Amino acid sequence: MFRQTTNYNWLFMGTILFFTLGLVHIVFSWLGLICMVTPFIMAIRTGKKPWCSQPYCPRAYFFIRFLSRFSLNKKAPEGLFSEKTKQLVLRLFCINLFFAGMSTLMVYLGRLEPMLYVRFLMAFPMPFELPQILSLDLPAYLIHASYRLYSIMFTSTIIGLILGLLFKPRTWCGICPIQTLTSVKR
Ligand code: SF4
Repeated sequence: MFRQTTNYNWLFMGTILFFTLGLVHIVFSWLGLICMVTPFIMAIRTGKKPWCSQPYCPRAYFFIRFLSRFSLNKKAPEGLFSEKTKQLVLRLFCINLFFAGMSTLMVYLGRLEPMLYVRFLMAFPMPFELPQILSLDLPAYLIHASYRLYSIMFTSTIIGLILGLLFKPRTWCGICPIQTLTSVKR
């Protein structure tokens, strides 16, 4: 389904760096926006989707690197890559972004306590804390938004790892919202 190159294998480090920097200080999770915005800039400039097809995506290399040996490589069920599934994942992603944005606004307005923890699928708080080695005096809404960004990346990476373990390493790419959105015909 996807081309696999060796030129940019080192990009898998980007995913490790992202999650590691989150342990240093959660505000580094804003770096995740690079992976959310760059695919669209590339798609607009080239009319194609080089971020996913080359790929340049650190997460794609992360899945290849860590799952190639362990993946069961089972055939994915019919329907996993259907338009319905892609649209469902895309909607969940948009709802997640919407709630992240709205809750940040509520924290900014003082109507909501900041949620200073990682959540899986928006609803499930994780039973661990990120250590936060750096101590920075930043506004609560910024820290809240940082945790929400980290949670979005964390959720999709965990789902991608589960799918990649069961099926092909890059199975997540078949339903990834970035891929779905950059595939829209212009
Ligand atoms: S589909 Fe998603 S995870 Fe896969 S290469 Fe594209 S952006 Fe990265």
